[in-house]
Amino acid sequence: MAEQFDLLILGSGSTAFAGALRAAELGKTAVMTESRTVGGTCVNRGCLPSKNLIEAARIVYESAHPRYPGLTPAKMGVDFRTLVAQKDEVIHDYRKKKYESLVGGRTSVERGRVQFVDSHTVAVDGKRLSGDKVLIATGSRPLMPTIAGLDQVAYLTSDLLTADESLELTELPESLAIIGDGYIALDLGQMFRRFGSQVTILERHRQLLARGYEPEVGQVIEELFASEGINVVTQASVRRLRQESDQAVISASVAGLEREFRAERLLMATGRRPNSDQIAIERGGVHTGPNGEVKVDEYLRTNVSHIFAAGDVIGGETESRMATPVGSHDGGIAAHNAFSDQSLHRVNHRVIPRTIFTDPQIGIVGLTEEQAVQAGHPCWCNTLPMSLVPRAGAIRDIRGIIKMVANDENEEVLGVSMVGSNAGEVIHEAAMGLRFHAKIQDFIDLLHVYPTMAEALKIAAISRYKDPARLSCCAE
Ligand SMILES: Cc1cc2nc3c(=O)[nH]c(=O)nc-3n(C[C@H](O)[C@H](O)[C@H](O)COP(=O)(O)OP(=O)(O)OC[C@H]3O[C@@H](n4cnc5c(N)ncnc54)[C@H](O)[C@@H]3O)c2cc1C
Repeated sequence: MAEQFDLLILGSGSTAFAGALRAAELGKTAVMTESRTVGGTCVNRGCLPSKNLIEAARIVYESAHPRYPGLTPAKMGVDFRTLVAQKDEVIHDYRKKKYESLVGGRTSVERGRVQFVDSHTVAVDGKRLSGDKVLIATGSRPLMPTIAGLDQVAYLTSDLLTADESLELTELPESLAIIGDGYIALDLGQMFRRFGSQVTILERHRQLLARGYEPEVGQVIEELFASEGINVVTQASVRRLRQESDQAVISASVAGLEREFRAERLLMATGRRPNSDQIAIERGGVHTGPNGEVKVDEYLRTNVSHIFAAGDVIGGETESRMATPVGSHDGGIAAHNAFSDQSLHRVNHRVIPRTIFTDPQIGIVGLTEEQAVQAGHPCWCNTLPMSLVPRAGAIRDIRGIIKMVANDENEEVLGVSMVGSNAGEVIHEAAMGLRFHAKIQDFIDLLHVYPTMAEALKIAAISRYKDPARLSCCAE
């Protein structure tokens, strides 16, 4: 006999919690299911642990490379095991406060591997649970490409940051080769380099961040990485992998030449795929797309009327992106829609700001120039160096660029890409602008605090009308 709930949720990550909490607010019972650690990817092995260690690595780097004459470089010791232990403490604390302590009352978690039995019922390690409504929120996992010999090398994935699981990396590798060039490769590559590892990034395209980003962004990051001693190898097509005693050996064709790379550890950062293939989804009757994404409409309904899906598991459906705030937002919408036939909420993925937590950060929102042109916009765009931003000069950190993309006729701003100090914060102003269809003039008219990095937006907007190199202090 199955235990009965109003909302049965597959998964217990940030998407699942948002769904469970919304259901509880609506007076409904919800059960989440989890085979790994409660809280899912973000808190246990994604956002939180990576940002914790990236900041530690920044402190090490800044100490050794002070930007100010008059400050003596200081070489900090790096005790990686202790750093990992404090990271685990932060995870435990955050997981307790933001996830575990929220379970109780109408909300519960069932531990074990979940599989559909039929469209209302799942088995969790043999135990049956049934839901009037169902939410699939099983997230995503590292995507492994088909490379000869991959099964013979001891490779790492982004799961290396996890706490409480054997996949956690506790020794700092002397050398690390990374295959891939997404945000995980860049974040972790720079972090390990700053802790002292020799880092090689192997990327098959002509430059870093070749797909979906402004070309200027990858170019700037490549130069910055080179200046920090990160070996970025582009046009590298990996052919074979093998393990030779304590080294991973990577054979690759680089711009047509056969080359070999060796490293103590290998990190596969070749993307992520939705976790839809290990839950017997066909028994629920739910359709998936070619990359395993659960297909949903703009109300997050699957093809089965009482089954919803949200978070990483829907991949790029409805223009979604795999990111925690998207899943958290949509998990709540899915639960609302599950119990509110009369007033359904639509998801809106038009404006999703993103950040890559390199130093300097990369902040992005909206369309790139190429995407704007493809979408049929008459396009105005301009790219400016950070050296034009007064704060960048004041704090002696002029690394980076900003690029603004706008419709040349009606002057609506369509996209912003920024590489620069605090770009992850600045990008929110651009996102709010895009949300309300702001024009170039709106970014100029808004009084900005002086001197801040957000002035980069105003200066980029001013460059539509005049030479931004000839502005007085407050960029008017
Ligand atoms: C290294 C790294 C850094 C990241 N940094 C950021 C960042 O800075 N900002 C950001 O917004 N996003 C970041 N992300 C992405 C973010 O972590 C995810 O988008 C988010 O966690 C997805 O949430 P979710 O609830 O949809 O899925 P998840 O959090 O993955 O939750 C799904 C849960 O379902 C469980 N599950 C799956 N299958 C089964 C099964 N058959 N039985 C039982 N349980 C199952 C999984 O174990 C998992 O715990 C990062 C990801 C990684 C890997």
